[in-house]
Formats: sequence, structure tokens, C-alpha cells
Amino acid sequence: MQKITIAIDGFSSTGKSTIAKQLAKALGYIYVDTGAMYRAVTLYAMQNKFIGGEQENLVGLVTELPKIALKFVYNAELGFSEMYLNGENVEKQIRTLEVSRNVSDIAAIGEVRTKLVEMQQRMGAEKGIVMDGRDIGTVVFPDAELKIFMTASADKRATRRYKELLDKGEDVTFEEVLKNVEKRDYIDSNREISPLTRATEAIEFDNSDMGLDEQFERMHNYALRIISKKEKGTL
Ligand code: C5P
Repeated sequence: MQKITIAIDGFSSTGKSTIAKQLAKALGYIYVDTGAMYRAVTLYAMQNKFIGGEQENLVGLVTELPKIALKFVYNAELGFSEMYLNGENVEKQIRTLEVSRNVSDIAAIGEVRTKLVEMQQRMGAEKGIVMDGRDIGTVVFPDAELKIFMTASADKRATRRYKELLDKGEDVTFEEVLKNVEKRDYIDSNREISPLTRATEAIEFDNSDMGLDEQFERMHNYALRIISKKEKGTL
């Protein structure tokens, strides 16, 4: 079967990764959560006091970028890959609100983006990949055969994120989570390098009032249609 590249971009907490994982599983594709990569670099920056303390030292972080080794390791029990930072499984640590508070500032650094975009392009060189993030359809894979841009109201997104964080035992308020979602949207959409924008040919997907089954079915159909066109040589 012909393989394609699927780029899923959109605002924070739109459920990109849930649907991307399902889609990858159904198609037998690799799934890559690029947000996890930016989060892992942020965790490194926090652990080494480049950000999050009294003084920021983003130049220092850029100098240390070659020391940051990121790797996805598949966990067969969970059915998805987990992020390893310099050999350590950091999957839980990168999902905290503390990391969410700092990640958009780290993701705005040009050198960080260059390093991570190169890694992402290598991972998708053979196609057969579903990648989610903010700049996948615009920068990482501008030639992706299927591009989706996910949106939902900030309130709906913050509600989802709040529940997730409570389930993980974090002590947060809804207002803090809503504020973080809105702030990240703002920074991600307004940064100079690779801001979050919808690729012109991306399908806009507002899932404010859509259940998971319906979202999956629609996306799966989009993908199957494109794969079939590719096989017939009409794409
Ligand atoms: O997808 P997730 O919410 O985990 O991403 C965390 C942050 O990483 C985003 O708010 C954004 O600042 C950054 N990011 C990015 N480009 C990507 C993926 C994530 O700038 N491709």
C-alpha cells in the first residue's frame, strides 16, 4: 500500500495527539508527538536553571543544545512511544503545568526549532507517519499529502486539559489551566519563527462539539481517500 505523510497542527489541547495516535494505529503508521520534543528541551532548561528560576539564560541553553539527546522509545504495554531525555524516561515530567508554562518560550528559540525540525524530517523521510504539532504542515512537511488544522474553543480545551491534569494528581485550578492555554496560543501564534498558522490547503477541523469516534472516522476517511488516489496515480 502507498504510504503518505499526515500533518496534524492546531492549538493547544485540541486533542491532536489522541486522534493522531488512533489514526497511526489504524494505518500501521509511526506516530510522532513533536510537542513532547519541545517539552523535553524545556524540562532540560528548567533542570539546568536556564529558565523558570530568577534569571533566564537562553543563550546558555543554545550552547548546550548538542548535549540534549532526545529519543522516542516504544512502550508495547501502553501502545505508544515515550520520550527519553538523555537516557531517562521523562514522559510524566514533561506533561506538568510547570513545563507547559515555559515551553512556548523555549519553542520560540530559532536554534531549538532548527534542531528539532531536522530530527522530525529524518523521522518522516520514509513517509508512513502521522505527526502532530504547530508547524508540521507549514514547515516540517510542507508536501504532506494530508494536512489537518484542529481548533476548539479555549474553554472546551482548558476543560479537557484540566481534567487530564487532575487525573494525574496535579494540584491546579481551572483558571490557571485556561490562562496557560490562552497564553500558549498567543505566543505560538505570534512568534517570529514558524508561528502557528493554518497551511492554506489544510482541512480545518473544529472539534468543540464532536466525539472521538466521529473525529476518528472523518480523519480515517480523509486518509483512505488520499491513499487510494495515490495508488491509482491520480494524486
Ligand atoms: O502539543 P503540545 O501542547 O504538547 O506542545 C507544547 C508546546 O510546544 C506548544 O505550546 C508549542 O509552544 C510548542 N510546539 C511547537 N511546535 C511544534 C510542537 C509544539 O512550537 N511542532
